[in-house]
Amino acid sequence: MSTTRRTLLASALALPFIGDRATAQGVPSRPITVTVPFAAGGPTDLISRMVAEGMARDLGQSVVVENVTGAGGTLAAGRVAQARPDGTTLLAHHIGLATTATLYRRLPFSVTESFAPLGLVSDAAMTIVAKPDFPATDLRGVIAVIKREGEKLNIAHAGLGGANQLGGMLLQATAETKMTTVVFRGSAPAITEVMAGRIDLFVDQATNTAPFLRDNRIKGYAVTLPERVPGLDLPTTAEAGFPAFSMSTWHGIYGPAALPQEIQNRLNAAIKAALRDERLRARFAEVVTQPATDERSFIPFHRRFLVEEVNRWRPIIQANGEYAD
Ligand code: ASP
Repeated sequence: MSTTRRTLLASALALPFIGDRATAQGVPSRPITVTVPFAAGGPTDLISRMVAEGMARDLGQSVVVENVTGAGGTLAAGRVAQARPDGTTLLAHHIGLATTATLYRRLPFSVTESFAPLGLVSDAAMTIVAKPDFPATDLRGVIAVIKREGEKLNIAHAGLGGANQLGGMLLQATAETKMTTVVFRGSAPAITEVMAGRIDLFVDQATNTAPFLRDNRIKGYAVTLPERVPGLDLPTTAEAGFPAFSMSTWHGIYGPAALPQEIQNRLNAAIKAALRDERLRARFAEVVTQPATDERSFIPFHRRFLVEEVNRWRPIIQANGEYAD
């Protein structure tokens, strides 16, 4: 063996073992799991599966979705916060990650310190919907029924910290009246109960409600954005008389905080590639959901945005006084 070959071999043997961490380009060398905190078939699940498919194509590595439901998404988030930072365990979460920072008095992670934000992926209007025979023709009518019936009415949500819970909280604050809350493991099981007439009201992402609104299987009253949403035949909350009722739901992908920068950058590139794909864009459009712009899927933007959202929701949640221990 020549001296040069012997030296090369020796330096290769001296390299730390990186086989089970990531390849040289930051692509994890084992299949990636995207942990979804809500039930299969709901908006978070749907969005995550579409993004995972595009990421897998770009990375040349399989990306599977696992639903870890319960405790408003904090179980799934806690699992990813504590996972080995090798890029194989990721979290797909929504606005609820930011709000749990205030809603939960004790969390096994820090919302702003335990994760590496890898890019926002989507934004969707919330819609105020009801069971098919709900006795109101517009949002003012809905508010009047809530004021009159109060706790005789029920409203669904997917756990404290879910977007549904925030939307429901705003609806009850608008009516200045509490309803009875029924908790599900995600929007998919909840919307089934709305269609069946067993749940009266629900505030959920258009991603989940748009197909059922189109088929008249539920009643729709408003979108919670300042502008109308193309593809949804609903007034805005402002047009319906309640401009303060405003929120949208964003989704993002995260790794554990200690994820090496090279892997973060590669996963972010895969997310961006997934969002540019025409197939994903067409499927997002069908469910009236916006893919994140290049700016919003930029890692520093996502990191800043998460902190801003924690701070934006804190006083609103504190004013409504709902907490979990
Ligand atoms: N829409 C639910 C929530 O935001 C969760 C889901 O199923 O995606 O609370």
